[in-house]
Amino acid sequence: MDYAARQRCLQAALERDELDLLLITHLPNVRYLCGFTGSAGALLIGDRGATFFTDGRYAAQARAEVSAARVVIARKAPWLAAAEYLADSGKAHGRKAALGFEAESVTVATRERIAAVLRSKFKLRSAPPLVERARTVKDAAEIRRIRRAVELGASLFQTALKRIRPGVSELEVAAAMEYEARRAGAESMSFPTIVAAGKRSAVVHGRASQAPIPQRGFVVCDFGVILAGYCSDRTRTVYVGRPSPAARRAYAAVLEAQQAALDAVRPGVRASEIDAAARRVLRGQKLARYFTHSTGHGLGLEIHEAPRLAAGQTQTLEPGMVITVEPGVYIPGRWGVRIEDVVVVTPSGSEVLKPTEKELIVV
Ligand code: ZN
Ligand code: ZN
Repeated sequence: MDYAARQRCLQAALERDELDLLLITHLPNVRYLCGFTGSAGALLIGDRGATFFTDGRYAAQARAEVSAARVVIARKAPWLAAAEYLADSGKAHGRKAALGFEAESVTVATRERIAAVLRSKFKLRSAPPLVERARTVKDAAEIRRIRRAVELGASLFQTALKRIRPGVSELEVAAAMEYEARRAGAESMSFPTIVAAGKRSAVVHGRASQAPIPQRGFVVCDFGVILAGYCSDRTRTVYVGRPSPAARRAYAAVLEAQQAALDAVRPGVRASEIDAAARRVLRGQKLARYFTHSTGHGLGLEIHEAPRLAAGQTQTLEPGMVITVEPGVYIPGRWGVRIEDVVVVTPSGSEVLKPTEKELIVV
């Protein structure tokens, strides 16, 4: 990972936003910019380079992982150490320098404390999500990691298929998948595994429960792993027992909606257009009102990143963006279907990672 290059891009963005410095406290952003993977760290970045702050627990790890930044080991919260460090060196900018902070990850109490430490030496400003913006476009090394995560993640569906039977609990299926993921090298799951069977398949985020899989109905499996820091995300829906014609039609409609959305992915297209492509198909089948979430999201170091594929999202897709496409239909109290894949925006269009046949599997 070329951390120095990422920092240079950020420095240019700071200049455009008239910020002299940015205090980065959101850990995935810290990792993105200097490589630190621990749970306590802050990075201060400005035109004179980057300084990383952590506490004694991470001294050895910081030395091993952090690149392109000075490392300061402090006996206090990293963000506080960073603010004090700045207060001590505050005069160096001559005029009153502007320090940006990440509003999404800084509590009101933390902000007040930083302001108190800095007193009047800096203008404290809530910064736009500059690092998140940079992270939307992945470099080749990141795409390689996501590809490996998706491959591992995809293999877990085979484990699920072996376990899904009437009477087996959702948790038992999820546990088998998670055990297999760990054995294959996953650091963790990228979110709590969803196995939602029968009526529970209509619960969009139906975390696996103790409920047994019924004799008949859809089973939605939504699962992902973290491998070398990067997330995968995939949903497959199968049917247990004999599907009615209506169930088959609903599944086919979701599959068609997903394909229409996938076909729409290419550089220059607005995020909202991908969402509209999926919704158009479902509207044709009178199912659009049961599609109650957005069509997809970016993913990378985090499971949910920009861009969001939803109505009103004007961001245009660029080569290197990695997004999910996951339309679904949920009839409350009855059943639900969702199909999800990860897709990379390429210069000429898109590439679905680890594509498979998605005709309805009947168990
Ligand atoms: Zn998912
Ligand atoms: Zn997803």
